[in-house]
Amino acid sequence: MINIKLPDGSIRQFPKGVTALDVARDISEGLARNVLAAKINGEVWDATRPLNHDADLELLTWRDDAGKSAMWHSSAHLMAEAIELLYPGVKFGIGPDIENGFYYDVDFGEYEISDKDLGKIENKMLELARQKQVFSRKDISKTDAEKFFTDKGDEYKLELISDLTDGEITLYESGHFTDLCRGPHIPTTGFIKAIKLLSIAGAYWRGDETRKQLTRIYGITFPKKKELDEYLVMLEEAKKRDHRKLGKELELFTFSQKVGQGLPLWLPKGAELRERLEQFLKEVQKEAGYQPVISPHIGNVDLYKTSGHYQKYGEESFRPIKTPAEGEEFFLKPMNCPHHCEIYNAKPHSYKELPIRYAEFGTVYRYEQSGELHGLTRVRGFTQDDAHIFCMPDQIKDEFKAVIDIIERIFTALDFKDVLVQISLRDPDNKEKYIGSDENWEKAETAIKEVAEERGLNAVTEYGEAAFYGPKMDFIVKDALGRKWQLGTIQVDYNLPERFDLTYVGSDNEKHRPVMIHRAPFGSLERFVAVLIEHCAGNFPLWLTPDQMIILPISEKYQAYAENVLNLLSKQNIRGLIDDRSEKTGRKIRDAEMKKIPFMLIVGEKEEADGSVSVRKHGHGDMGTYSIDSFAAMINEEVESLTASDK
Ligand SMILES: [Zn+2]
Ligand SMILES: [Zn+2]
Repeated sequence: MINIKLPDGSIRQFPKGVTALDVARDISEGLARNVLAAKINGEVWDATRPLNHDADLELLTWRDDAGKSAMWHSSAHLMAEAIELLYPGVKFGIGPDIENGFYYDVDFGEYEISDKDLGKIENKMLELARQKQVFSRKDISKTDAEKFFTDKGDEYKLELISDLTDGEITLYESGHFTDLCRGPHIPTTGFIKAIKLLSIAGAYWRGDETRKQLTRIYGITFPKKKELDEYLVMLEEAKKRDHRKLGKELELFTFSQKVGQGLPLWLPKGAELRERLEQFLKEVQKEAGYQPVISPHIGNVDLYKTSGHYQKYGEESFRPIKTPAEGEEFFLKPMNCPHHCEIYNAKPHSYKELPIRYAEFGTVYRYEQSGELHGLTRVRGFTQDDAHIFCMPDQIKDEFKAVIDIIERIFTALDFKDVLVQISLRDPDNKEKYIGSDENWEKAETAIKEVAEERGLNAVTEYGEAAFYGPKMDFIVKDALGRKWQLGTIQVDYNLPERFDLTYVGSDNEKHRPVMIHRAPFGSLERFVAVLIEHCAGNFPLWLTPDQMIILPISEKYQAYAENVLNLLSKQNIRGLIDDRSEKTGRKIRDAEMKKIPFMLIVGEKEEADGSVSVRKHGHGDMGTYSIDSFAAMINEEVESLTASDK
């Protein structure tokens, strides 16, 4: 008999060879019907895989992320089976689950595949799903695995096998399809009740532009038809909010093939919006004791060799820039940190000066394959709201607290209410992988955990996810459609202070190494603005929005009064414009609604006579008549309440 410990702490005994599914049945038939996979001692397994030792067991259903992953990865196999039956002889690359659904990369050979074929594949998948095909796991030797895929003629799988270790190779078989796979999988295809294949894209084999382009088919599946319907409604809404579409309609940014792909051009309204974001953060940072610095867009190759970025970005990144006579070699800067280290090194420092906080809106350049570029979220040139804090190990906790304050103020001002935090720490079993002293790591990790606790952050801790040079904290926001976006980061670094030989003189008159903290609350302005546009559907908070109001004179006769109103409001720091076209008022209102301008001020004979404006609010309608001063006061109060510090 073996002991199975359940998450509630209870222990049940079962004969050897019991499966998670058997355990579920022992609890209740209803539960067993919903089990997709199981966590055995923290590792996700097939619910049908026999257990031969004592184990901690957690049953996974559709409500668990790992349950969803098992279902979506199994759906990728199901899609491959359907494709193989419809298009005999095709070859398969990889087919993983992703954040929302799954994909499979397929070499269709001579077959021509387009969106029109997706319905046919979906129908075949549904037919196979209804057969409740069982996923069965098979251990196989490397030689036998190679023979299987040689006979099948699938060179992609053979290449994958060549990277695997004999004794650790498994196949999964379901219905007519057998795949090289580590698993885990759901018990049968019967769980898959609703299927939508979403799109087709090209994808280079192993992400390598020099290799064959395969056809990637994306899809998603659900255990209930209703959930698929809801998901499709959400996708429609996401399309309407797409920042590339709204960015164009609201005249915020553009791209030009002549300037180059992945290099955004900010239009006047977008540039002003971005400046307001920068100004907001600059003021907050000034209060928090940051000092501005400015560094160039390129740096000598030796700078990046010292920092280690050359080894990471140099070879596969942009080509070097060489000076004509001196033989110097420069790179576009991929990171601001090395420059800031040299700013720190410009003079000696005493412990009394620490923490030193250098802030810069620094534009960096990183090569991305053209296929990876996407609007403002994946670009080749972007501006980080970067800062580097140089401090003593004992100051890490307070610095984290202060950065969290800044991040929380930003999220409040921009109406991000649902924020998750991921804390990435060392793998406690592999401490030698990390640089920096054990004592310092201990100190930093404890500080970070304490801060998260004290601030009541909605945090998860991931062991083994820290970079080799330090632990970090990531901020992930959920937008209005429930999508997760990683934005701000606070990263401890023991590496660059070593590489740049940064020092301060301590109270003992000896030289010591400072700790460096990288932090960027927005992440990058480009990505942040993209996420913000999609979160608020282009209805920016009043303090940030390009035009806060538009004045609509009901005829030319009131043009002079409209200008007077504009003038008076701009004196009270309110931004706006006049729609002086000779259109009907109804048309002007509709157009202003389209442009998502928060307030429309209608002016005619009555308003001119008593010095007032008739106010309409975007998306709400008529708000009645206001004096110019009371309207201005209302706007300024709202702006103040969103951006002011609450301390
Ligand atoms: Zn698989
Ligand atoms: Zn940095």
